[in-house]
Amino acid sequence: MQTDFPLVVVGDPGRAAEFVPLAHRCMTELATALHLPGIAITVRVVDDFVAAVLDAAARGELPNFGSYDPERVGGIAAAKNIVMTADGSVVEIIVDAGLLADPDVTPGHLLWLLLHEFMHPVSGRLRATCGTDLTTSPNSRCAEARKIAYRALEELRCDRLAGALLTQTATVTLDDGTTQPLTLARLNDLGYTLSVHAALDDRVYPGWPDLVDQYRTWQIPLEQLWNDLVHATDGVINLLGRAQAEVESIGHASVFRGVEEHPAVRLYLGPVWQQVTDALARQPALAPATAFGDQEQQALDVAEAAILDLWQRLGVEVAVTDAGMRLNVAAPARDAVQHAVS
Ligand SMILES: [Zn+2]
Repeated sequence: MQTDFPLVVVGDPGRAAEFVPLAHRCMTELATALHLPGIAITVRVVDDFVAAVLDAAARGELPNFGSYDPERVGGIAAAKNIVMTADGSVVEIIVDAGLLADPDVTPGHLLWLLLHEFMHPVSGRLRATCGTDLTTSPNSRCAEARKIAYRALEELRCDRLAGALLTQTATVTLDDGTTQPLTLARLNDLGYTLSVHAALDDRVYPGWPDLVDQYRTWQIPLEQLWNDLVHATDGVINLLGRAQAEVESIGHASVFRGVEEHPAVRLYLGPVWQQVTDALARQPALAPATAFGDQEQQALDVAEAAILDLWQRLGVEVAVTDAGMRLNVAAPARDAVQHAVS
């Protein structure tokens, strides 16, 4: 059994050379405080990011995910955790060498990225220690909604932790010469939050109700509606998770500040995301192993139900019957208010 926290770095971490051991130390201290068993980490800095992710996944003992697309709503992934053993004791962190060489990526970004990547193994090890099975929760009604919820809450958890560590370890010098702790919001110029705002027009409204109506007017089959809706929801909910950590780093409660009246927020995302953040506000960022499993399942119960509620608002009701899942499709909620253009 892995009992300590060895680190191996393969490839040249370049400008991140100092940050890898720093992030590793943060992870080790956190895991030790939580009385977790050991985790062996290998950081691989690679030229072909997608190939290296697939290679690590193929070598691991968990089910292979077969394909990997680094495109995200609001950006492209440049680092990825691959859990190599079912107990979460061996993890590879794949880092795209192109990111390290990119002059637009600041040292602060590199530090945050590595802090984030070193937080995933902690929650993974906690989850394995608790024996959490995310695929067969007794409270789950829809596996797809559960998976979306899980991915978004995991990103939010790791960014909250990485943001807190960033604020403790890095400062920023302002124009007037004073220094302040570096927040995620300042580091990213609220980039994730602005990407959420852009996605409201670009993707959600009228894109999502239009997608449902394409099925209702016989332009696409039900299977395509479902696949596209799941994929679209996953992208935006994941982005909301990242943006939530960003706004919380400067004490704001809502990612929708300033866009509350956008139909995508009023009709769909606002009330749904509120349910999730209300539930999370009642929990610590990271609970010890004795409580982590229950707390994660409770948060996932709320987030899964919120995603089903979101789909219902879009006219897509997920009904669970003895024969399995059935989709009932009705007219999506749309904005009845005609705004005058002046
Ligand atoms: Zn992540």
